[in-house]
Amino acid sequence: MKYYIIFGPPGAGKGTQAAPLAERYNLKHISTGELLRNEIAEGTELGKKAKALIDSGSLVPDDVVEGMIAQAFGKYKDVDGFLLDGFPRTISQAMDLDEMLEARDEEVSGVISLMIPDEVVKERIAHRALLEGRADDARDEVVNNRILTYHRQTEPLIDYYKDRQKYHEVDSLGTIAQVGENIRNLMDSLA
Ligand code: AMP
Repeated sequence: MKYYIIFGPPGAGKGTQAAPLAERYNLKHISTGELLRNEIAEGTELGKKAKALIDSGSLVPDDVVEGMIAQAFGKYKDVDGFLLDGFPRTISQAMDLDEMLEARDEEVSGVISLMIPDEVVKERIAHRALLEGRADDARDEVVNNRILTYHRQTEPLIDYYKDRQKYHEVDSLGTIAQVGENIRNLMDSLA
């Protein structure tokens, strides 16, 4: 099984790129943000607990997202691997993921990093707010908190995966098609 991570700040295009890539490489795309939004839409206990944190632009507790990931790993057997989008987001999530995979004699296959400057993050999220209607895209202070949270809690993962020779950055400032091609070239070279 392959375990790819698509990584980058909010608004970098992770979800947009992940869907066609998952299809092309027969991977299950798992977006923890999407799973959490589904829980909120369904009004589950987990969704109720997560809502305030998501709406303020903070992270939900590690064990909540890790439970969802473990469940997904157990559920989808008919694929060549997984494309993780929005997970891991903290060093402790990355360490727990390594443990989870080690227990199955597996490891992270590669981290595909989409890097864009904060100013572009803001532009892209403002654009997405008009299209998708996500509550956490609509308010400047929430967007700013998500960017801050990314720098403080998620960016340290770059060194974590560099140290393990798993980190690969692709140019993400082009069109959706160009960025998609950059990622496919990278993934073909990793396979
Ligand atoms: P996303 O759709 O990936 O931008 O995620 C939306 C929101 O869901 C984030 O701002 C967090 O509040 C929450 N979330 C998603 N993934 C995680 C994660 N791995 N750890 C903690 N919170 C997460």
